Amino acid sequence: MPDDIDEEEDSVKIIRLVKNREPLGATIKKDEPTGAVVVARIMRGGAADRSGLIHVGDELREVNGIPVEEKSPEEIIQILAQSQGAITFKIIPSIKEDTPSKEGKMFIKALFDYDPNEDKAIPCKEAGLSFKKGDILQIMSQDDATWWQAKHEGDANPRAGLIPSKHFQERRLALRRPEILVQPLQVSNRKSSGFRRSFRLSRKDKKTNKSMYECKKSDQYDTADVPTYEEVTPYRRQMNENYRLVVLVGPVGVGLNELKRKLLISDTQHYGVTVPHTTRPRRSQESDGVEYVFVSKHLFETDVQNNKFIEYGEYKNNYYGTSIDSVRSVLAKNKVCLLDVQPHTVKHLRTLEFKPYVIFIKPPSIERLRETRKNAKIISSRDEQGAAKPFTEEDFQEMIKSAQIMESQYGHLFDKTIVNDDLTVAFSELKTTFDKLETDTHWVPVSWLHS
Ligand code: 5GP
Repeated sequence: MPDDIDEEEDSVKIIRLVKNREPLGATIKKDEPTGAVVVARIMRGGAADRSGLIHVGDELREVNGIPVEEKSPEEIIQILAQSQGAITFKIIPSIKEDTPSKEGKMFIKALFDYDPNEDKAIPCKEAGLSFKKGDILQIMSQDDATWWQAKHEGDANPRAGLIPSKHFQERRLALRRPEILVQPLQVSNRKSSGFRRSFRLSRKDKKTNKSMYECKKSDQYDTADVPTYEEVTPYRRQMNENYRLVVLVGPVGVGLNELKRKLLISDTQHYGVTVPHTTRPRRSQESDGVEYVFVSKHLFETDVQNNKFIEYGEYKNNYYGTSIDSVRSVLAKNKVCLLDVQPHTVKHLRTLEFKPYVIFIKPPSIERLRETRKNAKIISSRDEQGAAKPFTEEDFQEMIKSAQIMESQYGHLFDKTIVNDDLTVAFSELKTTFDKLETDTHWVPVSWLHS
């Protein structure tokens, strides 16, 4: 403590920090009523934080012997930028006690892309942390209700960055929402939505009928939830547990059925698919519980009322649908259940019981589609008979458009995206994904494990 310090200022602290290229990791602000310059924020893991000497609320009196009371924060930053090596601060420590916290113990999955440079609201762009949808972030501080501090999970760099808090992000996304909705609604008004439909291995030459799969618009584009972050926790399947449900989504014609079929025949003991329910009469070559579970209209309707179906539709005056119990029975056989549904149903399956792992099968570029699907056929409802037809340019465009909509509306629910450019490559990627799913640790929502 130097001699020339005022007696009343007995709480003054002199700090010397040696500055290298790394930013100090602190922000300052002018406290309007008093005019004092105070430390506004300390970035977790940054130089200031590691020194343990500077805290939020500390009042800055001098930097390298220059009094700062009359200076603006910009001028102070200027002084700091010009100083080399050791910097001396004279501060009056804040009296606020440090509260013990559970910092660094919470992990979240980002459900949107974020670039601080594009964010007009962030108090300090340099201190921002950019991330992509699906990234796992470790929360280092939630002291500020608007700007949290976070690090990328597993990142060796100790310094945290600013990210918008959940509440703040939800609020501003909710304000922007009307814009987001316009585009998908317009597209879904087109003759065919391009959403893909179910497939069962047991039935050959299944004709598709899109109309029965087409949902009401309000159903398909759920506007209720604004995706921001989801708290997650590591999960690894134990030997005695059921396999996680694997949900495959993708646009019509992308090759999802083909990939699913390849997977099934690669190991019929290990993979399984659900048997759908129908109210249509059984055909002579069919057996109950193999092609379909045949039920009465009355029973089907009761089951619909009781929410027993994941999805259902009507075709030629008969109901068809996939029941929740049909998924359970595949899992109970200790098999991996492969389910392909429209993406809007995924959120109903996100439970502790199913722990779904969602794989999005994405088309490659339109150029690659033209090259790779030249001689392929699409099973489509385009013609009345539902016969397989060669792909048209319109099919390609619709596939891409539909994939884009799926990604923008439901991308936050996808655990993995596989581009089906070359079928063999895509299949081997799919296989690796399945192998890892059964053995590795994955991040799952905490709500599944603590519910
Ligand atoms: P079919 O009566 O010829 O076996 O099938 C008629 C239609 O029902 C086909 O387009 C078939 O794909 C569809 N279908 C089969 N299973 C399901 C299902 O679980 N849900 C829905 N929505 N449609 C299905």
